[in-house]
Amino acid sequence: MARVMSISGGAALRSEAVEEAASRVRAGGGAPLRLSVLGATGSIGTSTLDLVSRHPSRFEVVALTAQCNAARLADLAIAHRAKVAVIGDEAHYAELRDLLAGTGIRAAAGATAIEDAAREPADCVMAAIVGAAGLKPTFAAAQQGARVALANKECLVSAGEIFLRHVRQNCAELIPVDSEHSAAFQAIGRTAPGSIEKIILTASGGPFRTFEKKRLERVTPEEALQHPNWSMGAKVTIDSATLMNKGLELIEAFHLFPVEAHQLEAVVHPQSVVHCLVMLEDGSVMAQLSHPDMRTPIALALAWPERLATPVSRLDLVALQNLSFEAPDHDRFPALKIATDALARGGAAPAVLNAANEIAVRAFLDRRIGFLDISRIVGECLEKAEGSELINAPNTLDDVLAIDGDARRMAGALLPG
Ligand code: NAD
Ligand code: MG
Repeated sequence: MARVMSISGGAALRSEAVEEAASRVRAGGGAPLRLSVLGATGSIGTSTLDLVSRHPSRFEVVALTAQCNAARLADLAIAHRAKVAVIGDEAHYAELRDLLAGTGIRAAAGATAIEDAAREPADCVMAAIVGAAGLKPTFAAAQQGARVALANKECLVSAGEIFLRHVRQNCAELIPVDSEHSAAFQAIGRTAPGSIEKIILTASGGPFRTFEKKRLERVTPEEALQHPNWSMGAKVTIDSATLMNKGLELIEAFHLFPVEAHQLEAVVHPQSVVHCLVMLEDGSVMAQLSHPDMRTPIALALAWPERLATPVSRLDLVALQNLSFEAPDHDRFPALKIATDALARGGAAPAVLNAANEIAVRAFLDRRIGFLDISRIVGECLEKAEGSELINAPNTLDDVLAIDGDARRMAGALLPG
């Protein structure tokens, strides 16, 4: 199965308008880059706005969105002089409106208003809503032909080819924000696709890397939320603990880069310093290294092909001393294999995987199921989907959303009580 495009060359995904907009984020001069942030109150959203604060002359904030936290959203909108602030949950609209009264910032609420915000004219949209909830807004961002800085990996997992087609049709540009994919994007550079032998994504191994399987049965959400290296939102932190995150990322990489599934691998690298390794036919291995701080890949996505200065700690290789790598343990962390099987099955399987995982992670955080049940429920859902009409390949975003809804119901039915 071949991908429709590769971002390595980038040409297919770059319009002149986007090139011109990208060149605006330059040291010193030029018009500011018009930026919207979907999921502004989250981990990626706040890291993005932190960079904006450090380079105020280079950005003009257009729209900011969040789901529930109206007070935080209003603070961010005021601090960054946004034009529009949108809260997804309409119950918080009155609070947002009151907080923004007299500021000149437009307030709106609801899922459709978030999509409208994504369509507000902008040069770059940071797509940082968590989960399949980010699908429609991320599609809307691409629709206006903007650069889409893609943190919402679930969009590529669930709607891979459909999303890429949409990006191409609208002459939008896609730059990955996920650290491993940002690393691969840089490591591949202008390498001819046929010269790439393998892309290896690194995984920290999460907080339970050294735990016995028996012990994994009893781990709590609090323990799972203690990621050793990265500070992230709850969902992606739990995905990192199960290694489902790496599975989702292999699917993401399959869509982004010009390789077949068998050329993608994951390796556990507890220090999270090397983010990806690209092996080439001449024996070279290209890698990108940086301190584990998302502001580095976010800066790249905002400024590429320029660079944006960040305060991220610089690597001290002597102090680091050891960079170690180990094979993932599929017995204790079955999620990775479940995800690569879903990629191999194709069709609706990745969308089912993603939806079932979202339900199972939520149930774990709510203490309804144990840690090992997350992978078990996702695996069972995929098996059930195999025998149903759910496994038909989606052709449109609506198809993906229908599969997502069905898979959520299926996963919900597998939960206790
Ligand atoms: P987060 O939970 O910290 O923030 C999520 C944001 O989305 C918040 O602003 C929230 O208000 C908004 N949101 C939640 N549900 C929504 C809904 N139904 N409708 C509209 N908005 C909604 O998440 P995060 O860690 O910032 O992750 C965001 C995305 O980036 C995820 O797809 C994640 O996999 C990806 N990502 C995150 C990191 C990281 O370091 N945090 C790294 C790589 C990729
Ligand atoms: Mg990642």
